[in-house]
Parts: sequence; structure tokens; C-alpha cells
Amino acid sequence: MVDTITAEIDRTPKFSNSSDALRPFKTVGKGHWEDVSDEDWNDWRWQLKNRVTRLDQLEAKIPNLTPEERSGVELANQKLAMAITPYFFNLIDPDDPDCPIRQQVIPKIEETKTADWEMSDPVGEDKTSPVKGIVHRYPDRILFLVTDRCAAYCRYCTRSRLVSNATGYDFRPEFEQQIEYVRQHPEIRDVLISGGDPLLLSNSKIDYLLSQLRGIEHVEFLRIGTRIPIFLPQRIDDELCQILRNYHPLFISVHANHPTELTSEVKNGLERLADSGIPLGNQSVLLRKVNDDVDTMKVLVQKLLRCRVRPYYLYQCDLISGSSHLRTSVSEGIKIIEGLRGHTSGYAIPQFVIDAPGGGGKTPINPDYVVSHDSNQIVIRNYEGKIFEYPEVPAPSSP
Ligand SMILES: *Cc1c(COP(=O)(O)O)cnc(C)c1O
Repeated sequence: MVDTITAEIDRTPKFSNSSDALRPFKTVGKGHWEDVSDEDWNDWRWQLKNRVTRLDQLEAKIPNLTPEERSGVELANQKLAMAITPYFFNLIDPDDPDCPIRQQVIPKIEETKTADWEMSDPVGEDKTSPVKGIVHRYPDRILFLVTDRCAAYCRYCTRSRLVSNATGYDFRPEFEQQIEYVRQHPEIRDVLISGGDPLLLSNSKIDYLLSQLRGIEHVEFLRIGTRIPIFLPQRIDDELCQILRNYHPLFISVHANHPTELTSEVKNGLERLADSGIPLGNQSVLLRKVNDDVDTMKVLVQKLLRCRVRPYYLYQCDLISGSSHLRTSVSEGIKIIEGLRGHTSGYAIPQFVIDAPGGGGKTPINPDYVVSHDSNQIVIRNYEGKIFEYPEVPAPSSP
């Protein structure tokens, strides 16, 4: 008999089209690693130690690796290391070379080709870096980089020049110098801690950094950018949450691109963070054959809301060297936003942005809902294409 009090209600709608199959939060479990103990599997350090980093490990689990992937793993590794946590690896469909998870973490030989307009530092971070590990581009907020390591490496990483140490870029952040910079700049009211992935640091380092920054009077707002909740949900344990909850207002931005990434393990980790009082946002990158269609994106953003995560940004893929094969047109991005606005919850709709090449900052790109606008009226179209007129308010006449 079903226990009517504790049984979880299945709120998954009945399927009506193929993307609906992506709606449930599936439990990933041990998959390829079925012989490992539960204790090891749930231990984030075990997950890190046992990442898939070599071609032979990959081939043992994905027999039909494509030639582009095989040569990609060997060559691309010299630019940005391959590393995939066992947990995340289990999301890969070994039979589908176009698997949206596979595209994000398994290198392809195309990564070694740089298109004319592509760059190693596409958003000009190095030139707005006053101190190693700090990017100060905007008037009131900074990027505070704390590590060059991630749990897994996204193949389109905008910071691949310094992440994973594959290129020999000597990135060693000096926390004291960075903290001192913040202390000396009273205009900084918002510190975005990123990397690399800050949640890879030990709890004591995270605690130290947050307490130092919180101790600076003019720092009002702290945030962390991390993909750990997606790549390594085991890391989001009680001890970490106990630390994070001491430093409010603290926001966290996660990075999910495809609904498959939102598993029951991930949902659980995100709920722990939300229960610790941390408002959660998501940043997605628009990627070819991963999430460049309205149906997939709609399921993604709706699942994010179910995990108490507010979609924040959708990025047009930065012009990072070797990313052409993953890039979709700006027009596709606009179409996706048009396909969401009005058709689903306003809370589910991210802001589509281009991080302007060379360092201009995140610039919003929106579908055009204004048909015409003059001093008498504005003519607008709604999400269904219907036309409406709104009278323009006359400019105040001078007395
Ligand atoms: C993205 C970014 C920020 C934060 O931008 P928001 O739009 O406030 O989220 C700050 N500094 C740098 C250098 C960035 O790239």
C-alpha cells in the first residue's frame, strides 16, 4: 500500500512530445562504476580522483568513439585537459556521437582549429586585470579568480588559456594581494568569485576567503560562479552549506546547458544550497546541437525553476579559439528567447547576452517587440504576433 503521507507526488506532466522525455529528474547512480562502494561513489574526493582523463579509459567505456574524438583527445588535451567525473560521465549516451553531454566534455579535433575571429582571451580579461586573479571591468564589481582547476572541463571554456594548466599559463592567484585590492577600492560593492571552480577549494579555504571579503565594509554582495553542483553534486554536503550560510547575502550561479544535466542528484544538491538561504541563478551557453532549439531550452529552464534556480544569462558562445563547431548563430538565440517569452513563466526566461569581444562587457540581445515608436505612440507586438498601440506620454512642457 502506498503511504499517502510520505509518497512523493509525481508532478511530471504526461508526455506529449519528444522533449517531454527530458522532464523527469533521473537518478544517475553508479552506472559504469557499479563495483564501487556507495561510500566511495558518494565521496566527492573519490569522484575527483577517478575522473576520466585518458583515451584508453574513454575507449573502454565508449567503444564507438569517432575519429574526431579520438584524435581530439590526444591533441586537444595539450590546450585544455580532458577530465570528466564518473558521475557526470554516466550521463553520456555511448551510442550517440551527438549526445549533448558528450559534446560538452569530450574533445574533438576541431578544437585545434582557430577561426579568423577567434581568440585565446575573447572577452579581453587580461587587459583589465590590475592584479593577478582580478578582472575589474565594471565600475562597481569585480571577478575574483581563485583557482585554475575545475571538476570537469567544458570544451568551450572561455578561460581555457589559464584553466587546467595545459598551456603552461602560470596562473597562481595570490589571495592576499587580491583581497588587498578589494580593500583598497571602495567602489567595489560586488565580488564574483570564480575560476576555475571555487567550490573545488577546501572548506577551510572557502571559509577563509568568504570571511576576508565579508570583513571588508564596502563589499555588500558576494557571489560564486560554479559548475560543481552539475559536475560533482556530491560536493554539496552539509559542512559546505554550513560555511556558505554564514556569509549572506551570498548568491550562487551554476552552469547547466541541457535538461539531462538536471538529475535527482543535482536537484538534491541545489535544494541544499537553496535551503541554506542562497539565491540560485543559472548561466547557460548557447551550443550547437546541445541546446539550440526552443523545446530543449524550455524544458531546461522549467526544470531549473523546479530546482529553485532562476535562469540568469544565456550566453552567445564567446569567440574562444577552437569553438566554431559548437557555435550557433545569434539569430537562433533570439528565436529561442522569442519562443520562451510569453510561452512560459517570466521567471524561467534568461537574458540572452553577447559578452562583447575584446572586453565590452555583457550586452543584452533581445527580440524586437517594438514595431514603431514616435512622439505620439509606440506600436508593439506581443508573443503571439498581435499588434497593440500605446500612446506616448507627451514630454513635460517647460514652465
Ligand atoms: C560577468 C562579469 C561580471 C558580473 O556581471 P553581472 O552582469 O553583474 O552578472 C563582473 N565582472 C566581469 C569581468 C564579468 O565578466
